[in-house]
Amino acid sequence: MVVVQMYNKKEVRSRDITEPRNKRTDHINKRNFLMAILSRLLSHIVKKNSVALLTQGILSKNSSGSKVPLAAYYDPTPRRTVVRRLLQSVAVSVGRRAVYRSISEGGKRFYSQLPERIVKMPEEKSFQRLPENVKPKHYQLSLVPDLKSFTFQGSVSIQIEVVEPTDEIVLNALDLTFDKAELKGDKVLTSSEVQLSSKCETATIKFASMLAPGPYELNIDFQGELNDKMKGLYRSKYTIGDDQEAYAAVTQFEATDARRCFPCWDEPALKATFDISLTVPKHLVALSNMPIKSSTPLGDLVKYDFEKTPIMSTYLVAAVIGEYDYVEETSNDGVVVRVYTPKGKKEQGLFALEVATKVLPYYKEYFDIAYPLPKIDLITVADFSAGAMENWGLVTYRESCLLVDPENTSAVTKQCIALVVGHELAHQWFGNLVTMEWWTHLWLNEGYASFLEFLCINHLFPEYDLWTQFVNESYIKALELDSLKSSHPIEVPVDNPSEIDEIFDEISYNKGASVLRMLHHYIGDADFRKGMHLYLTRHQYGNTFTEDLWAALEEVSNKPVKQVMSTWTKQMGFPVVKVTSQPTEDGNGVSLTLTQSKFTADGSKPAEDYLWMVPIGISTSKDLPEEVVNTMLKTKSADVVVPNVGPDDFIKVNPGTIGFYRTQYTPELLEKFIPAIKNKTLPPLDRLGLVDDLFAMVKAGHTNTVEVLKLLEAYKDERDYNVWSSIGNVLGRLSQLLGHTDFLKDYNKYQKVLLEKIYIRLGWKVRNGETHLNTMLRGLVLGRLAWIDDEKIMKEAKQRFRNHVTCEEVLPADIRSACYKTALRAGGSTDFETLLFLYRVTDLNEEKERISRALGAAKDPYLLEKALMFAMSDEVRSQDTVFVIAAVAISTKGSEMAWQFFKDHWDEISERFSGYLLNRLIKYLTENFASEAMAKDVEEFFTHHKAPGCERIVQQSVETILLNAAWLKRDSEDIRKYLSSI
Ligand SMILES: [Zn+2]
Repeated sequence: MVVVQMYNKKEVRSRDITEPRNKRTDHINKRNFLMAILSRLLSHIVKKNSVALLTQGILSKNSSGSKVPLAAYYDPTPRRTVVRRLLQSVAVSVGRRAVYRSISEGGKRFYSQLPERIVKMPEEKSFQRLPENVKPKHYQLSLVPDLKSFTFQGSVSIQIEVVEPTDEIVLNALDLTFDKAELKGDKVLTSSEVQLSSKCETATIKFASMLAPGPYELNIDFQGELNDKMKGLYRSKYTIGDDQEAYAAVTQFEATDARRCFPCWDEPALKATFDISLTVPKHLVALSNMPIKSSTPLGDLVKYDFEKTPIMSTYLVAAVIGEYDYVEETSNDGVVVRVYTPKGKKEQGLFALEVATKVLPYYKEYFDIAYPLPKIDLITVADFSAGAMENWGLVTYRESCLLVDPENTSAVTKQCIALVVGHELAHQWFGNLVTMEWWTHLWLNEGYASFLEFLCINHLFPEYDLWTQFVNESYIKALELDSLKSSHPIEVPVDNPSEIDEIFDEISYNKGASVLRMLHHYIGDADFRKGMHLYLTRHQYGNTFTEDLWAALEEVSNKPVKQVMSTWTKQMGFPVVKVTSQPTEDGNGVSLTLTQSKFTADGSKPAEDYLWMVPIGISTSKDLPEEVVNTMLKTKSADVVVPNVGPDDFIKVNPGTIGFYRTQYTPELLEKFIPAIKNKTLPPLDRLGLVDDLFAMVKAGHTNTVEVLKLLEAYKDERDYNVWSSIGNVLGRLSQLLGHTDFLKDYNKYQKVLLEKIYIRLGWKVRNGETHLNTMLRGLVLGRLAWIDDEKIMKEAKQRFRNHVTCEEVLPADIRSACYKTALRAGGSTDFETLLFLYRVTDLNEEKERISRALGAAKDPYLLEKALMFAMSDEVRSQDTVFVIAAVAISTKGSEMAWQFFKDHWDEISERFSGYLLNRLIKYLTENFASEAMAKDVEEFFTHHKAPGCERIVQQSVETILLNAAWLKRDSEDIRKYLSSI
């Protein structure tokens, strides 16, 4: 699965898919025609000075469409719905609502102080995995969705093996109504009682007599609701033609929502085969994991039977029913690849198709294992909580993660699409063919896929320079989160479904991928590859623990992989390696003393004596980019001799920024890098690594913020996208911190001076033949400048925005976001309304995202309030709402308003959002506050308003707020003095 992030700077050059100029006239004509209409409409509106049309609908709320349970009684005390046997043999139960779960889980604690107790995790919840006395072997699942009443009928016939004598069968089910439950063995047994537990999300089917061990067939008829929560089998709204609304039925089961669609043993290790059939209206497309085996007309309906799946986990089962077009190609390893798009948009699937058909043979060759299924479909889903989901053979995506409109898709989005396709297809092996035994090992899926997406797409699109981007996009984010006391180890014990959602986070994905990158470097590509082949072959169609992977890699590399890697996956955090030096006796080199200790975000001494096995590489100015020393730091401290180092030479520890640790140099050692930064002989990965390491030291209070401001001045002539991306992270973070002071203007001046040369160099216009990374850099630089309110830049942006809306000169997609924000900050109500208008006339989801996330750049509190109301309106899909609200929280004023709005609308927000979307929202809204009072406010709010599954993110936010407060207190006077002196 890929989870959508708020700040995505990934960009990509429009390459092979972009048609030659002369073939693009159709697009251009069509675009010009549309823009002419838009222009006329706009001028009409502006002339009339009327905003009524534009604001229409902003205030209308999204209806939750919730349904009331059908029958039976709900007993709140034991938290379960008990349904007695009705009429002889038919057990009937009731659909319950997920919200009961939140009632039943109380007693969470949050901590507002920084001391060690913040490490304490949420209280243990009683949770048990399913009993092991019954095993599923095969499911015959039939679903009949009704897209008018938003319900579905289902029946499932499960071949099971009773392993030990029992008089009850326990499996997972949630929000389902059982109509019949019977068991066929030697004779047919009807259940005496079915108990549905909302707390445990189980159905317990009881029988009057003991069942002897042996094979049985469990038959259950059931019903459910096609909910609007983006979980289980749910409904997703789309439009046909101009305005006609229609619904698709789609599935999203990971982590534990297959049980909302059909009764099943919903644990990753309980694999089985599936025969799936879908009965749907005949005008609709019906897809599942496997190709269609047969279709049977039934009046206005068609029953599609799909071929039997291989043995697989329930969370990977999928179905999609709706109206779609598709493009198709067969990859050169013989797999039929289709990209399904909304009707009339099939050309927008071509880029993903191109990527997918290249990615499949790449993985086949890399793993030396063929893709196991005969087909793969990639399909867009209009309402989708994640970014994409790797269901075996039927990968689902939100539109902006799959569709490319050559005229309106930015390089950022395009690259992101390539990576997401690479990620989900990696899962077809890593996750689907071999699956983690339990969610504790989720990182095996996500860390690996996050590593492989870079490996694969970097190979296919070398001009993206993806491994350098990886450091900004993944590595640094993981280090930041992992320095908190409320972080968690990569291998984290999880039980309840709500806890599982919490760990789809930077640690599982980004730290997982980062430590694998470090391991890849440590054992080398050839052994890494062999180890993967061994692991995947040995465990295919099975389940694994983290140790199984280490064993395979150790076997092929003959290196102590398990011993090394366990220190990185079993304990949270990472080390800071302190470097001090003295000349060697012969005067020819230096002796470095390397000391490791746990890096803490607040600079405090770690509570425990942590120790890592740290692969250490060292390069010097004489040997770039070769590593002159390669060693393993196993102890607290060690001396290393670096030969042939002159008095002016720099010594770079961790060249390539590959090791997952921070490096702390003495000021003298740091000083030696300055000339190499200025003349760029230090490689980009090291230039950016230096800035980020120093910034981490600043935040932790080991050095003053002024030091990083001074160091950045050496980067005025910098031209590399990735280095600027890292600098941009630092500048943005400081902007948010200094937003709480009265000298933000001075800081903006500082930023302008720093960015001036690169701004002049790149300008606003794309140059013929410029590199892709430069195209991305322009968007990045303009995006940073959008926030500094410089008169000249604002004037330029306003003019370009005006030209864009009147079609005089359409903005390239790559700079639209920056231009929208700058123009909005420079303007006011009219520009806000114009943006809303652009939002309403585009049918490209990516453009809608771009516009809606620009609204939060407004300065006027009235407009920010409007942006928040707009986010909650039915004009914004629930999948996007969170990010529109979060965009308001970027500025200081906006963050106060967004947080207040969140509190005021808690009932609606907590009803509409849960899991990782709610986690992301809480993080983005709160983590930039910088006072103890706000930490208390956030803590108190969540003490009184339970948000199951968000406990960890609240702890992390509270901790971050307190860190910000301490940082501001510590350094603000020095920063003020420094900024006013330059
Ligand atoms: Zn994934």
